Amino acid sequence: MFDLIVKGGTLPDGTVTDIGIAAGRITAIEILNDAEAGETIDATGDLVSPPFVDPHFHMDATLSYGLPRINASGTLLEGIGLWGELKQIMTQEDVVARALDYCDWAASLGLLAIRSHVDTCDDRLLGVEALLAVRDTVKDYIDLQLVAFPQDGFYRDPTARENTIRALDMGVDVVGGIPHFERTMADGAASVKELCEIAANRGLQVDMHCDETDDPLSRHIETLAYETQRLGLQGRVAGSHLTSMHSMDNYYVSKLLPLIAEAEISAIPNPLINIVLQGRHDTYPKRRGLTRVKEMLAMGINVGWGQDCVLDPWYSLGTGDMLDVAFMGLHVAQMTSPDEMRKCFDMVTVDNAKTLGLSDYGLKIGAKASLAILDAGDPIEALRLRANRLCVIANGRIISRSPRGDAALTLKGRPDRIRRRHCIS
Ligand SMILES: [Zn+2]
Repeated sequence: MFDLIVKGGTLPDGTVTDIGIAAGRITAIEILNDAEAGETIDATGDLVSPPFVDPHFHMDATLSYGLPRINASGTLLEGIGLWGELKQIMTQEDVVARALDYCDWAASLGLLAIRSHVDTCDDRLLGVEALLAVRDTVKDYIDLQLVAFPQDGFYRDPTARENTIRALDMGVDVVGGIPHFERTMADGAASVKELCEIAANRGLQVDMHCDETDDPLSRHIETLAYETQRLGLQGRVAGSHLTSMHSMDNYYVSKLLPLIAEAEISAIPNPLINIVLQGRHDTYPKRRGLTRVKEMLAMGINVGWGQDCVLDPWYSLGTGDMLDVAFMGLHVAQMTSPDEMRKCFDMVTVDNAKTLGLSDYGLKIGAKASLAILDAGDPIEALRLRANRLCVIANGRIISRSPRGDAALTLKGRPDRIRRRHCIS
């Protein structure tokens, strides 16, 4: 007897099967002909996917677009300045309300694990308190992992060091940093060293905003790889953005990539945000500002797409849909072969789960019964259509339903209803 059976769906690898769920866990992945269930969902012809995972987000800033004004230049630096203005006027209730609204969007889109940075450059630690409360409120349907993020610089801001440590004491999960924003390259490297030591001492993971700049000489990822090795943090460290790598000398990159691979650092490119923020000082040719995704994948480095921002001082659009993120990444990184497109789907699901260290994630027996049923035949079609999430299940419970993306036509001699599906695999 199952609580729930998802019948006849197609898994991302093409397997057509049923999924049996009991007590919030996946307990069967096989054809369940006569099995009884409290509820059965027919997923025939539809893609059944593990939940989407966002490895890089800023939930304290989300849905604040226009507060107190918009980012006129569109640059990272004006965004940071604008966020500083907003921090002066926002309240804890504002942050909680915006974050919970975003989590509703995420839940409806099957985005059930999110790693969010939270600004620790605020003596009140208002955002930290707010997101710790949100983490608890959403825990039955979203795994929210928080990163202590000294946005204004661990050393550059006079109280960031002390407040970042306080945030970790309060229960923030992961150690962050922003070495390229420190006053000097030397300070940046020192911040990487100290923050990695803090993580090693506390047994925590590390996720740094690293080299989010067009400066080809911004090389803090090299220090991050070195410190990861030195402190035995392999497999527990992520480098977010890494956009300077776009502009680096090829010879240097040929030395750097093996160091990242050896340190088992995960890479988190954020294509929506970096395609709009980077290259702003260029004329033409204008750099794309995406890190070297295909080259890292070829080295065996774990790479996953991150969302970064939705309607905030840095990005004026966004929905929380990781298919949008993967769709942009696919285009900017030119990952257009069938295998590469499938990889882009993995890069917003299983590969990001690896970055976050989610142990009971995935479509496997014993894992949390969390999944999404999509109005698509396979992962490539899901990307092409940014397909509707017909049903989202979190820990064995249906938490959201959406209609198909059909349209009614009134054209003489043509069908009265269409579905833009064209799955050929
Ligand atoms: Zn970020």
